[in-house]
Amino acid sequence: MGRHRTPADSLADLSVLTVRERKQLSVKDATSDVEQFAEPGRRESLSQSLLTWYADTRRDLPWRHGCDPYAIWVSEIMLQQTQVKTVIPYYHRWLEKFPTLEALASTDLQQVLKAWEGLGYYSRARNLHQAAQEIRQRHGGIFPTQLNDVLALPGIGRTTAGGILSAAFNQPVAILDGNVKRVLARLVALPVPPAKATKQLWQLSEVLLNREHPREFNQALMDLGATVCTPKNPDCPNCPWSSHCQAYNLGIQSQLPMRETSPPLPHKTIGVAVIWNEQSQILIDRRRAEGLLGGLWEFPGGKIECGETVEECIKREIQEELGIDIEVGERLITIDHAYSHFRVTLTVHHCRHLSGLPQPIECDEIRWVTLDEIDQFPFPKANSQIIAALRENS
Ligand code: SF4
Repeated sequence: MGRHRTPADSLADLSVLTVRERKQLSVKDATSDVEQFAEPGRRESLSQSLLTWYADTRRDLPWRHGCDPYAIWVSEIMLQQTQVKTVIPYYHRWLEKFPTLEALASTDLQQVLKAWEGLGYYSRARNLHQAAQEIRQRHGGIFPTQLNDVLALPGIGRTTAGGILSAAFNQPVAILDGNVKRVLARLVALPVPPAKATKQLWQLSEVLLNREHPREFNQALMDLGATVCTPKNPDCPNCPWSSHCQAYNLGIQSQLPMRETSPPLPHKTIGVAVIWNEQSQILIDRRRAEGLLGGLWEFPGGKIECGETVEECIKREIQEELGIDIEVGERLITIDHAYSHFRVTLTVHHCRHLSGLPQPIECDEIRWVTLDEIDQFPFPKANSQIIAALRENS
């Protein structure tokens, strides 16, 4: 008698299939996986077991203490790319500083970036600020309740909108963040990387969503991914979905989700100048508002070209960026830092201003500041290490 084809077979098959065949398999299998879990009895069982588990084990997180859409929105944005334990102190400080949407909308962007300093992915802070102003302008300062209006705001994608609308207004809108993708990919033993089956995973999240308790269901799903169905060593024996989970039942939970093979991150080497004048002030510049780290302050510098020494690079960059002559002195510090799409090594040198009036040629603004004044300005994380080194040296 023929045997049903299982997800484990699919996983094994994938290693010998051509790229074209894999693409066909991904659509076919992922779609049929969703259909299996859409069966009402199974859906109800999954939903109830998850809600019961959540009632007993839910995490006491500060943004779960109320339903203020503004506070929930702030938490959702902070939690993109950042872990809960890192977010909590920032979240409290943020709400002390900007307790309402109106307070945020009325604040200068530099203060907003300063409050975000150290959290990374600064476009999140810029978008929060801009969206607060748009809500004030278009919705009278009241956070919108229609999905399309929420999605029209800067920095809010589908999963963030679902997180806000379900948590603040108990609306039945599904979510699909990184944790949820992992849980669902394991639940159905998805035979391809989640990025290749996004449509099917959204369908699954929508099919499973409990329509009577969407707030609790979505929060429970997030907790399951964060505390039980973790990237390494998922705690399957204590999982409310263990009896339904195909990955667990096939013993392949640690191999899932399947990963895309990604090329190594490109590496840039940068020469950075701490330029002193005769009044013991340092020259800093504000990056252009658009792009990576937009609106933040930094020490000037740039990429070391092929065949160039660090000293030559710094001298050239400062002439090009600021139109001044400097003398490059001793090295202060070397810093390695990783961003999402590349790594950098910053080699930082003390420099002395020789001649010329600094011009903001490739930035939005420049200032001479003392080491005491520098804390008023928002800097990216790697530049904060330069400030710490300067303090140690002084
Ligand atoms: S049984 Fe294991 S792999 Fe499956 S959802 Fe639960 S924790 Fe994740």
